[in-house]
Amino acid sequence: MTSVVERLQGQSPKFSVEFLPPRNADDERILWTAVRELEALDPAFVSITYGAGGSSRDRTIRATARVAQETTLLPVAHLTAVDHSVAELRNVIGWYAAVGVRNVLALRGDPPGDPMGEWVAHPQGLTYAEELVRLVRELGDFCVGVAAFPYGHPRSGDLATDVKFLVRKLQAGADYAVAQLFHEPEPFLRMRDSVAATGCTATLLPGIMPMLSSRALTKIVELSGADLPVELARRLDRYADDPAGFRATGIDIATEMCQRLLDEGVPALHFYTMNRAKATREVLGRLGLVTRA
Ligand SMILES: Cc1cc2nc3c(=O)[nH]c(=O)nc-3n(C[C@H](O)[C@H](O)[C@H](O)COP(=O)(O)OP(=O)(O)OC[C@H]3O[C@@H](n4cnc5c(N)ncnc54)[C@H](O)[C@@H]3O)c2cc1C
Repeated sequence: MTSVVERLQGQSPKFSVEFLPPRNADDERILWTAVRELEALDPAFVSITYGAGGSSRDRTIRATARVAQETTLLPVAHLTAVDHSVAELRNVIGWYAAVGVRNVLALRGDPPGDPMGEWVAHPQGLTYAEELVRLVRELGDFCVGVAAFPYGHPRSGDLATDVKFLVRKLQAGADYAVAQLFHEPEPFLRMRDSVAATGCTATLLPGIMPMLSSRALTKIVELSGADLPVELARRLDRYADDPAGFRATGIDIATEMCQRLLDEGVPALHFYTMNRAKATREVLGRLGLVTRA
């Protein structure tokens, strides 16, 4: 199986997409509609998030295996250290390998139920993503990605320290990083430049999720860890009572940001799709990155 790094090579800009594991039969149908629609646009890879426990983890493994076995897409399996002993992590990594998945996004994860709660490692588990990167690499020929936070990880004291730990994860054996959501290109580009200034040559991919509704906006602000800049808030406020206008402006804002990132030389855009293809297709079509959007 090819690796993410191989798929990102070449001069032309690429894109990748992220999905959530389905919770029920309806979700499954929605997910697979999106998978098939986006498959036609040839993303560099598709990644599938890893849930906080039990059955949701099984669903991640099943969905990732199905992408590997039934589509032309390159799957990236997320994996977190939450509530797992090292033996269990080895087991999951073994499952991924057994179904042909060779690309893993190695994450520490958040305390279940309260993302801002105190992190408590499993007694036989790991404390930082850096250790999981080492474990995955040790277990086979995997291409490994990690998470990056343009505004700093919410638990980090300051941005410089967070970048230092990001570089450590990359130096531990990760090939690339995918960024958390952000509102304007500058924080991402500054993080990219700070990493490059350390001599680290790993690729950083920006994470994109268009603001399609005021509900989505609240989620984006929460995940990013930063307030929406005043100028963007003003643009969207005008459409507080006009969902179609709000959505169209959200697509405009995402397209403008993606264009600027491409102008700055990012090799690929990573879309958080929420298991829907439409917005990603619209942005890609407006950027001229796909002909069939
Ligand atoms: C692209 C992306 C995908 C994600 N997918 C998922 C998913 O599928 N499932 C899920 O549950 N969560 C997911 N998350 C959320 C992620 O698990 C949380 O944000 C988590 O809090 C941080 O994970 P990490 O891998 O960055 O942790 P780490 O890199 O371990 O960092 C955690 C904290 O510890 C600090 N730190 C790191 N290394 C060290 C060290 N050596 N010494 C001291 N401090 C250190 C960091 O600065 C940071 O504050 C995702 C996030 C992103 C950006």
